[in-house]
Amino acid sequence: MQRATSEALYQRACQLLPAGVNSPVRAFRAVGGTPVFYRSAKGSRFTDVDGNTFVDYVMSWGPLILGHAHPEVVEAVTRAAGDGLSFGAPCPAEVALAEKVVAWYPGCELVRFVSSGTEAVMATIRLARGYTGKPRILKFEGCYHGHCDALLVKAGSGLATFGTPSSAGVPGPLAELTVVVPLDDEASLEQAFLKHGEELAAAIIEPIPANAGLLLQRRSFLEKLASLCRKHQVLLIFDEVISGFRVAKGGAAQLFGITPDLVTFGKVIGGGMPVGAFGGRREVMEQVAPLGPVYQAGTLSGNPVAMAAGLATLQVLERERAWERLEVVGAQWEQALRDVLQGRGQVVRVGSIFWLYLDPSPAPRRFDALVPQAAERYRGLHRALLERGVYLAPSAFEVGFLSTAHSAEDLSLTVEALAEALREVLS
Ligand SMILES: *Cc1c(COP(=O)(O)O)cnc(C)c1O
Repeated sequence: MQRATSEALYQRACQLLPAGVNSPVRAFRAVGGTPVFYRSAKGSRFTDVDGNTFVDYVMSWGPLILGHAHPEVVEAVTRAAGDGLSFGAPCPAEVALAEKVVAWYPGCELVRFVSSGTEAVMATIRLARGYTGKPRILKFEGCYHGHCDALLVKAGSGLATFGTPSSAGVPGPLAELTVVVPLDDEASLEQAFLKHGEELAAAIIEPIPANAGLLLQRRSFLEKLASLCRKHQVLLIFDEVISGFRVAKGGAAQLFGITPDLVTFGKVIGGGMPVGAFGGRREVMEQVAPLGPVYQAGTLSGNPVAMAAGLATLQVLERERAWERLEVVGAQWEQALRDVLQGRGQVVRVGSIFWLYLDPSPAPRRFDALVPQAAERYRGLHRALLERGVYLAPSAFEVGFLSTAHSAEDLSLTVEALAEALREVLS
């Protein structure tokens, strides 16, 4: 496969951007080699700058549930752009999009739009602290919530109960306000609430943790979390930046039948444009400025072009009952990939989110159960699949995304490529 143009662009980019990229995973460090530069994309496929075509399972890391450049979304964006790129004032599309979010998501009575998932999370953390007057946050090891300081925190070593920074530049005293507990572990959770419950403003979780592989949680674990939150008057925040509008109309909250106090959205809600949102119980959301004392603002928040993309995406999803279809299609892909893997790895899936875990052991539910050999095997597999026109995320711990554009033809191409790649890498 000819990759000269991508490689030349990458050399230029490395003179200008840290590691040649604007977001770290894109640099291919985890799998080796150099990044593929996209030229154009349509549906389930993209063409790189060298003219190679790939079946795309990254799909911009989640937003593109309808595939690349869906005609209705492109048309909505084009029309909106012609009417003005940004107003910095209210526009009709943000009201229409808010109506959908509030109607579809359990317990979401008020919503505010921002421009990224990180921004949404950052605002809910401030809001939870402002509303409760309490300082600490509880998060789970292996959940990712964007790059806000309070959540770039990992579990302290040994018996330390307070978090330590997982990034340089996050002050220790700030990280100590975050309590980190393992997923899938009721006993640790109870202990953390016993110890810190009175000081906790919020517990934040990806109800479907999809940023360290796909660590599917038991419903009873999430219920335990919800009941501990109620008991200690701690706000429950569901980070549905990936799962929101992807796994169901009402996200993971609908799947599990658990209503959080606050929710964060991103990715699908912008249909490929920079949109995030946070929402929840009216009484809590009324603390947001200018109704309440918790400050939050954004020059490009509710941007008319971005709102048009999100609205068009949700309209198509609803009209086509896409969630039901994606579940059926997802199950077919799961079975087909599992047949090829033949026990050499696991396919973990919920709806249109899937993860290949290249180890014969059962798929893990918590972060510290991931075996490092799975990531080593993935490196080789990733390269072998890329050579065969299948583009998986350049990291063993990232999930893959199906869209309504992925076809039976894409599946058979992928199955064939996977069979060959496994022969090359795992034999
Ligand atoms: C992607 C992601 C974020 C951050 O969203 P950005 O738009 O990248 O800032 C937050 N939470 C979860 C669960 C995510 O997957």
